[in-house]
Amino acid sequence: MKINLKKIINDMGKPGLAGKYFTVPDFPDSMPLSRLAGFQKESLMEVVKRAYDHSPFYRGKMDRAGVRPADIKGLEDMSRLPFVTKAELRGNPWALLACDKGDISLVQVSTGTTGGEEIYIMNTWEDYYLYEMSAGYPTLVPVERGDIVLNALPYEMSSAGLAFHKTFMDGCRATVIPAGKGGAYSTPAKTIKMMRDLQPTVVITTPSWAMTLAEEAGESGFDLKSLPLKKMWLTGEGCSHSFRERVEKIWGTTANFYYGSLECGGVGIECDAHNGYHLAMAHTAVEIVDPNTGKVMEPGEIGEIVVTCLLRYDTPILRYRTQDLGYIDPDPCPCGVALPRLFLRGRLVDHVLIRGVPLSPFYLEEFLMRLPEVGNWFQFVVDPAGSDRLKIRAELAAGVSPTPELADYLASKMEFGTGLPCEFEIVDRIPRPQGKTVRVVHQ
Ligand SMILES: [Zn+2]
Repeated sequence: MKINLKKIINDMGKPGLAGKYFTVPDFPDSMPLSRLAGFQKESLMEVVKRAYDHSPFYRGKMDRAGVRPADIKGLEDMSRLPFVTKAELRGNPWALLACDKGDISLVQVSTGTTGGEEIYIMNTWEDYYLYEMSAGYPTLVPVERGDIVLNALPYEMSSAGLAFHKTFMDGCRATVIPAGKGGAYSTPAKTIKMMRDLQPTVVITTPSWAMTLAEEAGESGFDLKSLPLKKMWLTGEGCSHSFRERVEKIWGTTANFYYGSLECGGVGIECDAHNGYHLAMAHTAVEIVDPNTGKVMEPGEIGEIVVTCLLRYDTPILRYRTQDLGYIDPDPCPCGVALPRLFLRGRLVDHVLIRGVPLSPFYLEEFLMRLPEVGNWFQFVVDPAGSDRLKIRAELAAGVSPTPELADYLASKMEFGTGLPCEFEIVDRIPRPQGKTVRVVHQ
């Protein structure tokens, strides 16, 4: 069944832009890029005008930068707008409002892995629904009526669980099971029981929770590969290719990633090629900038990912600095979807310093997860001031016995892969996370 997007959007009385551009069969992942660029330009101008006219926060910033809405005539003018930083939003709940406070229908809050005061992101009812209803990506996310989606993301506080609940239930018209993650009732045992009873065709969760659920399934004698899964979606945390391959093997299905955040919503969606995230161009305009100078970089150059939301008019997000690193590749993808691809290169704040060289934990994990003797739970132990060697603390795979020789052997394999001096500590059990998983711990 196809949804009558145009009717829904028109009924909402929102800016006609979404209704003008996104109507069956013109979905963002199948329409010409030139048409999407037309939407991005028009929407940018509309959001900027609304921000300037209705938000003291944005008006002040734009006045200080000497830029007026009339100066923004297209995407090429976006770089004239000032950035918005996490620091500006921390502890400043109502900063982004370009609407009446009473129109806010939903408040969500950052889960705070980077510390500091909370960031609150608010939505009016209209923006919240416009966001998913107007622009689906059915080629990249082929979930439809008849699918049973088990949503094992956290529903509390932040956006992850609720956002995908809305996408799959309202947008895709699928059946959604709000299993949750880490909540009062969302124990792994209960979730596995629901899977056994309801036989989901799609599962969405985080990489580490996929492993936690797999462990529970193993302990209760339930084979996840017996489920009629056609796809698994992973989000909320990153992981290496080799960790993902372990997840896919255990679950017996393809696992694709979503990239997004509380502040910006959906930004990129992986296809089955697992080679970059197709940009969700109907929802966001993405720039890559030099983290030091703020200068916009060329395609292929690595820099900080900066996001502008195109379907949020009442609490605008303009040029938000994510502190994530990546680059954009405009070359065609073998899957046939024309949306350019974003490649992530970790977070500015997460890099570990070994011998003065900043390294992404996913880079290290990639080598570790290729070693069959190593189990699925591990930590990188570092000195915050910088270390001269990489210390790895890990469980062994089932059936592998710990010996000092094995620790030396694994250390040498990691040294060979990473080119870094390594030390290996074999432990019985790494604590399982309730929240986001922690791979890097301090000495
Ligand atoms: Zn692709």
